[in-house]
Amino acid sequence: MTERTPLIAGNWKMNLDHLQAIALIQKLSWTLSEKGHDFKEVEVCVIPPFTALRSAQTLIEAEKFEVLLGAQDISSHTAGAYTGEVSGAMLSKLAVRHVLVGHSERRQYHQESDEVVRAKVAASFSNGIVPIICVGETLEQLEEQGQSAVPVAQTLAALAGHESLKEFVIAYEPVWAIGTGQVATPEQADQVAGAIRAAIRENFGEVADHTRILYGGSVKAVNVAGFMQMAEIDGVLVGGASLDADEFAGISRYKKHIVL
Ligand code: PEP
Repeated sequence: MTERTPLIAGNWKMNLDHLQAIALIQKLSWTLSEKGHDFKEVEVCVIPPFTALRSAQTLIEAEKFEVLLGAQDISSHTAGAYTGEVSGAMLSKLAVRHVLVGHSERRQYHQESDEVVRAKVAASFSNGIVPIICVGETLEQLEEQGQSAVPVAQTLAALAGHESLKEFVIAYEPVWAIGTGQVATPEQADQVAGAIRAAIRENFGEVADHTRILYGGSVKAVNVAGFMQMAEIDGVLVGGASLDADEFAGISRYKKHIVL
């Protein structure tokens, strides 16, 4: 029997200073607790900018909030002369549980190749942090190659060549759906998630059945249910809508417990 606990993750991108971050985490945690949210049944992760991580950690520990903490990036290097980078060891000291790797904005604006993404997955594994590996096709790639080819290839490239695979999460995020208000249909997203899972199974075996695959791209409280009902989708990665506590709490409240 395989269980996959749903994960709802909020990528705040380059928004909110550390004081605003504290206020949002407080409001989100209170709202969810008031509504009786069971954090073991549906995990909730907030992913603020680096500058807010220490304040967020202090707050979460002091208040015993059950919301998980994530980071938006990780260096592929261990330590040393890499100005501006933040290492996995530094993140794990801040109780960072998840890290985004390969987000399309990093691939596009920072030229992160599949090889860099793979190295960041390795850095996550060696520091006990669970990478949320973001994959997805651009509109051009969708038209030329169909919907699954690029996300499957990016997934396999990120997972290739590790000594052993530790826990990881895949976030299928069609680039054309990020921040555009244009959403993939739940059926399309389910089909791509199924193709990703099949490729993981074919190459790495039964780890595929335990791996959570999220959908991301213009998710809101009004459209989350369609995705969460899909067999292959185990949660969502949310950008813009995660900056509003009520909206993100509304997204996080959607229950699903998959037992295969
Ligand atoms: C994202 O940045 O990962 C994302 C899904 O953004 P949005 O929800 O705003 O489309």
